[in-house]
This record gives sequence, C-alpha cells and structure tokens, in this order.
Amino acid sequence: MTKCAGSTAEGPCTAPAQEGSPFCYWHDPSKEEERREASSRGGRAPKTPLDLSNVLEEGPKSLRTLEAVAAANESIIGGVLGGRISMDKGRVLINGLRLQASVLESIDAAKIRQDIDELRAAVKRIEEERAYVRR
Ligand SMILES: [Zn+2]
Repeated sequence: MTKCAGSTAEGPCTAPAQEGSPFCYWHDPSKEEERREASSRGGRAPKTPLDLSNVLEEGPKSLRTLEAVAAANESIIGGVLGGRISMDKGRVLINGLRLQASVLESIDAAKIRQDIDELRAAVKRIEEERAYVRR
C-alpha cells in the first residue's frame, strides 16, 4: 500500500494513496472542487452513502496496527472538517477507533508480558546450568 505524497502540519501524510493517484482523497488536487462543495455543505451528512474506501482499504480488517488506526483517524478528522463525513458519523468512527487502539495496546502489552516471562525463564535456566557446572 503506498502512502499519500502529501504532507500535513505534522509531517508527511500517512493516509493511503488512492488507486491511480499519488495522493489520498484529502491531498488530491483533482478533488479540490469536490472537497470545496463538500465543505460548503457545512458538515451536514453527505447525500451519497459514506465511502470509507480511502480510509479503510480493506474495511475494518485493515485496522490491525496502531499506525493504521492513526491513519484512519487522520482521514476521518479530515473528512469531518471537509464536510464529507457528518459530525455524528465522525464521532462514532472516532470512538470505534479509540476502542480499537486500546484493544491493540492491550494485545501488545500482553505480548510484552509473555516475552518477559519467557526471558525470565531463560535467565533462570542459564543460572541453574552455571550453578551445576561450578559444582
Ligand atoms: Zn494525504
């Protein structure tokens, strides 16, 4: 998956680029008119069904890493600010992402705890072997 060639105030844009374009929706110069129209609707829900394809490349399944969650979060904030995603939908999506991020963090923490347990066991084995050799 290629990342967008655009940049944000925080640095390079991390949203996935659209198919056949080096930019994500929010940085695509050819979508400027569309974005302006969306923003003139002033945050009301768009009439067309919500298309999150450039936020979630493989649907919710693509949100398996904190980086992917952060990129989706960024796109949704951009969508709300641009009027492409309603405030209500944005709120729901961001809440979902917040929960997803905390679940991913818990999984990471559990993996780290498991690694520590394994390392402790390995150190103990090595210490026991040394004690045996010395005797
Ligand atoms: Zn971008």
